[in-house]
Amino acid sequence: MAFRFLAVPSHRLVNHPQSLPVDERLEPDLPPVHEAVERALAGAEFRDVRAKDRMRALLQGDRPPTLGSPEAGFGPSAVFAQPPQDLPALLRLADELESLARREAGERALVWKCGDCGARYAVPVALVRQVSIRCERCGTPVELNATRSLGEEALIDPFQGAVNHSRKELAVFFREAMARGWPVLVAEDKRVAAAPSGPSA
Ligand SMILES: [Zn+2]
Repeated sequence: MAFRFLAVPSHRLVNHPQSLPVDERLEPDLPPVHEAVERALAGAEFRDVRAKDRMRALLQGDRPPTLGSPEAGFGPSAVFAQPPQDLPALLRLADELESLARREAGERALVWKCGDCGARYAVPVALVRQVSIRCERCGTPVELNATRSLGEEALIDPFQGAVNHSRKELAVFFREAMARGWPVLVAEDKRVAAAPSGPSA
């Protein structure tokens, strides 16, 4: 299920089928890969319920959501968290997301480049030995000498990077919404559900 979070001031909430105001709203800056956003919330809890289960119950439960949608292509919105009573739970969720992002930030690696063809070689710091390898692309010897590496970087694939970025963005968004006293809303992204799809994986 693809979804969208947003926050608007309580006094500007409207009921479906009206749309929520666009001039006064807060939204996390999330990557367009909805699987990454969904993964970002996996393992995080809100009031002792998995955050994803709560969203599913709100959006796909017996009672459909009643608030206006964020824009065309989205279903009606439901209140995910309401200040002030949900403030502590939402702040805990934000903390949880940030610690998940830190834990999965990836191990550090040292990086070298082949002097001839520029091919990159990254070796996890714990596995670095001073050896010479032959460049896979051009055969030139590359000295994996720690003092001559180009530096350290995180060994992280782009998807995991998007997941962690989503976690940090959501944490910032939840905190900001609570600081303003605005309810956090969630709506289902119907554009994804409506898109033609092959056999589901
Ligand atoms: Zn090379």
